[in-house]
Amino acid sequence: MALYAELHRHLGGSVVPRVLWRYLHRSESDLSARFPDYSEFEDFYTRPRDTLDEYLELHTLVESVQTAETLPYFIYRLMRGAYIFENLAYLELRYTPFLRTDAQLSQSQRIDQMAEIVQIVGEASRVKEYPIVSSQILCMHSRLPYEVNRAIVALAAQSDYVCAIDVAGGDAHYAERLDEFVELYVYARSLNLKTTGHVYETTEGCYPELLPYLMRIGHGIQIPLLQPHLLKEVARRGQCLEVCPTTYLKTGTMKDIRQLKQVFDRCFDAGVDIAICTDNAGLHNVRLPFEYESLLTHDIIGFEELQACQDAAFRHAFAWNYAQRPASMLTSLLKTEVGAI
Ligand SMILES: [Zn+2]
Repeated sequence: MALYAELHRHLGGSVVPRVLWRYLHRSESDLSARFPDYSEFEDFYTRPRDTLDEYLELHTLVESVQTAETLPYFIYRLMRGAYIFENLAYLELRYTPFLRTDAQLSQSQRIDQMAEIVQIVGEASRVKEYPIVSSQILCMHSRLPYEVNRAIVALAAQSDYVCAIDVAGGDAHYAERLDEFVELYVYARSLNLKTTGHVYETTEGCYPELLPYLMRIGHGIQIPLLQPHLLKEVARRGQCLEVCPTTYLKTGTMKDIRQLKQVFDRCFDAGVDIAICTDNAGLHNVRLPFEYESLLTHDIIGFEELQACQDAAFRHAFAWNYAQRPASMLTSLLKTEVGAI
């Protein structure tokens, strides 16, 4: 069995619609009255949006129900699904811890509570019956103040549960605070943190200034599409693009998945690695193996390229401490067994 690595998945967007709908009904939330039937809820939750901002609004719905008390409930179901249906051996889960703290508290109390949230997520991700090597990426957020984002970086550096930091919240919104985010990434690197960042996802999110600080690039699809001259440098720095095919259709960034062919072709030509990811597998109701299959059936990549991307995912994983992906380990185990017979 092939086992996969998922490098780009949001905690908020990883709740599949049925789990969320059941939770809303069990907890008698106001939303449960609005959606007595599951099918209507699924349609509301998974339908494509016109813009990235409109799409990100949905995250706030999930964030509001993911609290210190309920996180273990959602994470258990997430790990179970990832193990059973997606064959994940490795998972990096990302989120903004501040947005899971108690909104009634003051800003500084909420900052203090972030460490507890990271601990809860870390403990809940280790499920004995569904073992997956996992780690957390903490996201700074374009709509949060500087002090909060700086505290997120500091916390990431202190916690054994965290492997990296990211910036999220819609890439069009960093422009007016670009210096601030550059400074925060410099700070992160000074603490030996690993880095990724949501940039070059949309046409309004192109910031060459941020690229030198990133070890991986969250999406990055507009680099090969709009600024292919940068690819050489991206390859030289050994940066990997985290490409999440379904997202671009759900956010209105692309009209047709076939537009991704140019992204893959130009990256392969330039020697830039791509890891195929889901971004928000729950919100899309699309799991990782289906992302792979969809790229194959639309002739965007072939099996050889797919394997190269799957290898790249393990190679660029921030917390996979082995030279090989698990499939190669199984192959050598099989060889040893055959030799023994
Ligand atoms: Zn994302």
